[in-house]
Amino acid sequence: MKPIPYGRQYISQKDIDAVTNTLQSDYLTQGPQIAAFEKVFAEYVGADYAIAVANGTAALHLCAMALNVQPGQKVITTPITFAASANCIRYCGGEIEFADIDAETYLLDFNAVKKILEESPEKTYAGIVVVDFAGRAVNLEAFRKLADKHGLWIIEDSCHAPGGYFIDSNSKKQFCGNGSFAELAIFSFHPVKHIACGEGGMITTNNKSLYEKLMLLRTHGISRNTSVFQNDKQWAAGNASEKVDNYPGWYMEMQELGYNYRLTDFQAALGISQLQRADEGLRKRREIAAKYEKAFSGKRWLFGQSGSMESHAYHLYVIEVENRLGLYNFLKTKNIFAQVHYIPAHLMPYYKQQGFKQGDYPKAENYYSRCLSLPMYPTLSEEEQEYVIESIFSFYHG
Ligand SMILES: *Cc1c(COP(=O)(O)O)cnc(C)c1O
Repeated sequence: MKPIPYGRQYISQKDIDAVTNTLQSDYLTQGPQIAAFEKVFAEYVGADYAIAVANGTAALHLCAMALNVQPGQKVITTPITFAASANCIRYCGGEIEFADIDAETYLLDFNAVKKILEESPEKTYAGIVVVDFAGRAVNLEAFRKLADKHGLWIIEDSCHAPGGYFIDSNSKKQFCGNGSFAELAIFSFHPVKHIACGEGGMITTNNKSLYEKLMLLRTHGISRNTSVFQNDKQWAAGNASEKVDNYPGWYMEMQELGYNYRLTDFQAALGISQLQRADEGLRKRREIAAKYEKAFSGKRWLFGQSGSMESHAYHLYVIEVENRLGLYNFLKTKNIFAQVHYIPAHLMPYYKQQGFKQGDYPKAENYYSRCLSLPMYPTLSEEEQEYVIESIFSFYHG
């Protein structure tokens, strides 16, 4: 059996053609593919605006900047996430407070967040970064109410969940990143995620002023929009001897301290092509999840599993097991490369230096001691999945 990773990209001939066509076009960056990708992605998740950026971490950083995170401000997030969900707040000098997870869903525990907010003096917290971990959508309707009560913003880290949704109180599907509840949502196009661009990211929002600010911050804070220019026209024209009515063609203004967080045009072309297969990929992921659930449910060595849900986007399929290390190493000998998501962020040495310690978030720590992400990607064949399942059974003797 050839190596079976926990996740992998699939690049079709159509993807390759899309990239090579763009490489042969006039634009390698900031050409028409960027705007086209933003448009189809916004439509896919149901948001008004999308901003393509260099990667998911850049997306998070720009969100924290656009929401004006300031030194000393406090933001709540989950410890069971990729560190970037928390790091983006630190980039802006903000402080992270973690809240424990819900042991069943593995998501940020609403009640733990509520408790923190209710026990803190007013205005201690500025926002919440929620994470649709593994592809399971956070119930943002509930978090929105809580956030409004305490005057907080919400960033939805949807890196795991394009196409995932939750059902709101009106029985309506609310897709991850649709902007109905969170101010901003972000996605990653790292090869292991649903849509691969090599590197890449996207921010989605329904808020026009945040959209405009993000477009500026993505490109050094430089604007070419004459209606917002602040300097004098005559001066901009180099104190031209004739009187000028317009800013000269070359003129632009850096109005804020931004970054170069742009995506390239050929990556956007790849993203557009990949997005066309996203629904097919989701169907496949849900089928794989259903098979895992059926195979494992009720096993004595199993403490928990992602289960099988129509609304789940299944970036990961997680099981919680007895003797996780033994199973992980055994699977490696079988050429199956399971993975652990995640090492709790609060116990990374960097966050320990910020004062976090073992025992702070017992549910997250308990989850970490037994979780394992099994192979989950659209091109995982039936035969390969059966081999994974049989290998696990042979480790536990059934
Ligand atoms: C992948 C990921 C990121 C970061 O995305 P990059 O594109 O790798 O920078 C952030 N948050 C979560 C939950 C992720 O899975």
